[in-house]
Amino acid sequence: MPIREYAAADPKKSCTHCKVGFEEVETMEAKALGACPECGSKIARQLSSPSVGGSQSGLHDRAKNAGFTTYKKSSKGEYEKKY
Ligand SMILES: [Zn+2]
Repeated sequence: MPIREYAAADPKKSCTHCKVGFEEVETMEAKALGACPECGSKIARQLSSPSVGGSQSGLHDRAKNAGFTTYKKSSKGEYEKKY
């Protein structure tokens, strides 16, 4: 599930909820929030998310490891079949 980060567009017009920023889990169909649900101030979506980059590289490593494991298993299986 995608998690979108928001923070107050104008820190002067923000509550404690949106001043530090918050995360919203949204579906693909859901519209991006335009205002803080707590105080109604204008909020801006935060595009830079360190957790997204971390999970992407983690997935890449896991895919590489999984592919390597699968390859080893299948080649071993073929070897055993020929025998
Ligand atoms: Zn707010």
